[in-house]
Amino acid sequence: MTTDPLAFLADEVAELKRANLYRPLRVMSSPQAAVVIVDGKPLINLSSNNYLGLATHPRLKEAALAATRDFGVGSGAVRTIAGTMTLHEQLESDLAAFKRTEAVLTFQSGFTANTGVIPVVTGEADLIVSDALNHASIIDGMRMSKAPRVVYPHKDVAALRELLREARAAGRTDAGAVDAGAAGSPHRLILVVTDGVFSMDGDIAPLPGIVAAAEEFGAAVMVDDAHASGVLGRNGRGTVDHFDLHGRVAIQVGTLSKAIGVLGGYVAGSSALREMLTQRARPFLFSTSHPPAVAASCIAAIHVLQDEPELIDRLWANTIYFKGELRRLGFDTGASETPITPVMMGDSGTAGRFSARLFEEGVFAQPVVYPTVALDKARIRTIVTAEHTTEQLDRCLAAFGKVGPEVGLIPG
Ligand SMILES: *Cc1c(COP(=O)(O)O)cnc(C)c1O
Repeated sequence: MTTDPLAFLADEVAELKRANLYRPLRVMSSPQAAVVIVDGKPLINLSSNNYLGLATHPRLKEAALAATRDFGVGSGAVRTIAGTMTLHEQLESDLAAFKRTEAVLTFQSGFTANTGVIPVVTGEADLIVSDALNHASIIDGMRMSKAPRVVYPHKDVAALRELLREARAAGRTDAGAVDAGAAGSPHRLILVVTDGVFSMDGDIAPLPGIVAAAEEFGAAVMVDDAHASGVLGRNGRGTVDHFDLHGRVAIQVGTLSKAIGVLGGYVAGSSALREMLTQRARPFLFSTSHPPAVAASCIAAIHVLQDEPELIDRLWANTIYFKGELRRLGFDTGASETPITPVMMGDSGTAGRFSARLFEEGVFAQPVVYPTVALDKARIRTIVTAEHTTEQLDRCLAAFGKVGPEVGLIPG
């Protein structure tokens, strides 16, 4: 008899289950919408990133069907060999116009946009300065770069300034002779990287302060707007537009997988940035491009953002209502200022039990536990969408109000 060399995996899974850190996959047999069928049960959905309901928008579906009829289901190659179709190029020029940047390059996902761009723009001679709560794909992108990196406490602009000052000062040969600008630095580039909206807490990066600090010390800023695309800024243009910082953020990453409702990521910036990414970004060079239906439905989504701004208005009206009512019930929603509204639970056991009870009450709201968040910061992360009716939100609130006292989270 041979022994299984991977037998340790079963032990590791058992350990995760013992620690309440095992996350079962919930299986949906309906479209992604305000009401979904999960494991056979109809539930009000508070767990998707489908902020505007675009995953099932008729214009996007029609665009996908037409592109499939005209161009087939697959692109057949990586972008640099034979996988660049007119649809891919049109999506990029439409996105660049939408974002008001010179150029855009799309990637297979937001994840690969981050892991693609960071190692291309930074190397040994550079320094990356990163917010402590940045997304995993930014962290992986930094790991793939040869650049050293330092982390500043979450949203702490004063600490960021101090790090930038130290980084520039370290490069001066004669402290008196060179003032705190790019001239004295050993670093070719200092890149400050932040999520625009933080994915687990729903708080917004203090981008004006970050940009001012970066400009003071000759650093560049990269913002990951995965949860701001389609949510913040005029017509959902993101945090740079929200804070009116056009032209002052060198690299904007966005996703097409969340509010845009489809799949993909992109990097918006200068033409030189786009050109260099086409030559060196590894996911772009070594992984097949999007199917025609994906590119076509993303193009349709940009038109919907411009033609139907009422979707974003409804998203925010639902957000303000739901967040306000949760707080009125006595729940701790942390630092949230966007549709991402965590309901803080503390330990992962409570979060798991709470979510299971909500499931029984007809509400789909998934727990988020370690390692996605710190061990003692387990939560249920809710995201309302433009599609939810007030009646649906009230049913969710009633369920939270019923389960809260059961687990001792709010008074009965
Ligand atoms: C979701 C997310 C990503 C990844 O985007 P995908 O398109 O789903 O790969 C990247 N960054 C942040 C901040 C995210 O929240």
